Amino acid sequence: MKLAQLTAYLESLAPLAYQEDYDNSGLIVGQPDMEVHQALISLDCTEAVVDEAIATDCQVIISHHPIVFKGLKKFNGKTYVERVVEKAIRNNIALYAIHTNLDNVMPGVNARICETLGIGNTRILAPKHNLLKKLVTYVPVAQAEQVRKALFHAGAGHIGEYSECSFNAEGTGTFKGGENSDPYVGEPGVRHHEEEMRIETVYPANLESKIIMALVLAHPYEEVAYDLYNLTNQHQEIGSGMIGELDTPMDEAEFLADVKTSMDAQVIRHTAFTGKQVKKVAVCGGSGGFLLKQAIAAGADVFITADYKYHEFFDAEGKILIADIGHFESEQFTQQLLFEIIQKKFSNFAIRLTKVNTNPVKYFI
Ligand SMILES: [Zn+2]
Repeated sequence: MKLAQLTAYLESLAPLAYQEDYDNSGLIVGQPDMEVHQALISLDCTEAVVDEAIATDCQVIISHHPIVFKGLKKFNGKTYVERVVEKAIRNNIALYAIHTNLDNVMPGVNARICETLGIGNTRILAPKHNLLKKLVTYVPVAQAEQVRKALFHAGAGHIGEYSECSFNAEGTGTFKGGENSDPYVGEPGVRHHEEEMRIETVYPANLESKIIMALVLAHPYEEVAYDLYNLTNQHQEIGSGMIGELDTPMDEAEFLADVKTSMDAQVIRHTAFTGKQVKKVAVCGGSGGFLLKQAIAAGADVFITADYKYHEFFDAEGKILIADIGHFESEQFTQQLLFEIIQKKFSNFAIRLTKVNTNPVKYFI
């Protein structure tokens, strides 16, 4: 298939608009219209992974971490980043990254950690603001349903577990067409009164152009009247980290032993035990230290993440057990997650999981 088919699907699940500002998710090397027969999935895109793609005839590498984070000014093979990019281009291999946009969606990296650890009743720990907008439009009553349908179909009207959400109120609209107009009802040059429906519905900001196009196509008027509002509401399904509960409370040592096994962690660096039973657990794959305050505020007994620094451990203040399980370890199941996501949609498309362990951190035990 065309690479664009694959990336469009991945971006329908984890839109690029949901990545953090510092991130560089998306197609880094390659053309959207190139043919791909097999994809290689990895957490990191290293030279060894590109070699593996060449050896196994994969045309695209889908990695969690983007190989390029900041501007590259030279390509003389001095750093591994330059060498990876150069090798990929020379061998016609596309590089695609699905990073914080996959961290920030509900069925993403953190949901996979929660599933692995048996944490249920989950929700996003730090939902994002300013991702939702509201559309208000005015439609003749007889065409209101066709417009609502088109808006819902284009992705408007989702609130949590509910779809097709809208508010509708009838009223009277007025308009007078100019001499070059061709009004759907009424005459040019004469003010017309029409019974209209005011339809209000929320939508994710990244779908705006699609939704407006659907509105204009479904609406009978020559000039469609609509208002777009910015909302400051949280988007409950998009954001960082996740929090949930264990079925049965455990003591802290027992819980960490469990985490060590399930997450295949060689070592867990943690703060002093608080003496509390573990029931509520917050998680964030990768560097999640910035979420500690939210984890404490949400009443988490334990916060599982990675990349904790010495001084940051003090911030636990005896209120929470911080457990640093390692960056690679916290995100390793992301490879499997991507494999399943792609396989579900493109059952005939070949996908391989990398055999390279890209973890740059080694443990001398
Ligand atoms: Zn990471």
